[in-house]
Amino acid sequence: MIVTFRYEQAMKEDITGELQQSGLLIQELYDQLQPDDWKSFLGKLSDLRQIYIQVYDSNGSELLSTGRREMSTEHQQKLEQSVNTVLAGEALIIPYMDGPRPVMLTMGMTIELAGERHVMFLEPGLSAQSRNFRDMNLSIIAITLAIGSILIIVAARYLVKPLKLMTLATRSISRGQFDVNLSTSSKDELGQLAASMKQMASELGQFERMRQDFVSNVSHEMQTPLTSISGFAQILGREDVSTSERMRYSSIIEMESNRLSRLSDNLLKLASLDSDHHPFIVKSYRLDRQLRSVVWSCEPLWSAKEIDLRLELDEVKLEADEDLLGQVWMNIIHNAIKFTPDRGAIQIMLSKTDKEAIVVIRDNGIGMNESELGRIFERFYKADASRHRSESQGGSGLGLAISKKIIDLHHGRIKVKSEPGKGTEFQIALKVRLSGG
Ligand code: ADP
Repeated sequence: MIVTFRYEQAMKEDITGELQQSGLLIQELYDQLQPDDWKSFLGKLSDLRQIYIQVYDSNGSELLSTGRREMSTEHQQKLEQSVNTVLAGEALIIPYMDGPRPVMLTMGMTIELAGERHVMFLEPGLSAQSRNFRDMNLSIIAITLAIGSILIIVAARYLVKPLKLMTLATRSISRGQFDVNLSTSSKDELGQLAASMKQMASELGQFERMRQDFVSNVSHEMQTPLTSISGFAQILGREDVSTSERMRYSSIIEMESNRLSRLSDNLLKLASLDSDHHPFIVKSYRLDRQLRSVVWSCEPLWSAKEIDLRLELDEVKLEADEDLLGQVWMNIIHNAIKFTPDRGAIQIMLSKTDKEAIVVIRDNGIGMNESELGRIFERFYKADASRHRSESQGGSGLGLAISKKIIDLHHGRIKVKSEPGKGTEFQIALKVRLSGG
């Protein structure tokens, strides 16, 4: 439509010009040749020039119409009405519609025939071409629409299919099924979305497995002391228990209760540290003094095992949360004592570089192999559960996980070296000034 509209004006002008020329030519030929029968003369010229010719006399009656095919009565009336106007000396252009488009036109002018003024209407005989032209336009439109629709359907399918798959995937994720089937071959935005969705699902799945492991670990850790508490409590209820046995059983019950209490303390602490809402109170204090006091607080443990404990502590001032770091030293030094045999040796060193305080806690205890070493910061991990049970004063495998978390909160580093049978060395580096970056 736009194209037709665009060229309509130009077409109109062309046609008008041509009709005008034809009119003049007809008059000229007529004047020169003066044919007897002007009707057949005009009929031939009409064939020759490919135009339709209609002639009206001054009364408005039609004298001649050369082969004009079906003409609407409306147009016919228009022509008849304009006879007088043309006679008055005006050449007229009367447009009419041939089907929807293009616009065609009739040109009215006067002509002298046999000494009388007549009105002649000329009209281009283009009907066949114009019809073809119109049909061609319609076909182009139809084909464009058909191809366009097919392309749109294909594109929509291409867009909609992955979206549908993703909807299904989110539904299955919300039902707790995390292994979703999303093809991620395409590299466009949808492909990227599908890939991140897949990744999200797999991380959620991992998270879910961790959660389940955590719950089962916690229940397992609680189950053991609870079983022994209820067993010993039952025995205590019997009458035939001697006083010394009674004392022993009640001390076991107390020990197991302490273990449970430590476990729940540790769990609460981890949850609190994880939540990022744990109060983090930074102040400047002497790290060497803190280490010394932790060592003295566990003096009964190391002196009972006759461990040779050496301190080499430089004077270091540190900005940190004193309470939290106190737990780190407590955990690591307790482990060192726990996993070092009687008459073993433990060394605790503190030194300072430009920006960091370096704490080294070294023992010559049982040590760990590579694979154990790789997992000690995992929650509930105990290197050798059976060995541990006999050794432990009720470790739950959370101590180092908590320590690592605390050191991370201080933007510090913790490294461990260990060799089975030779001993273990923990090295912790902490920024002296937290605020200084
Ligand atoms: P636990 O409370 O059981 O000691 P930790 O998280 O503190 O838990 O330690 C995890 C595991 O790492 C311990 O069970 C132990 O097997 C191993 N471990 C930690 N410190 C030492 C060490 N100094 N020597 C040998 N093994 C150690």
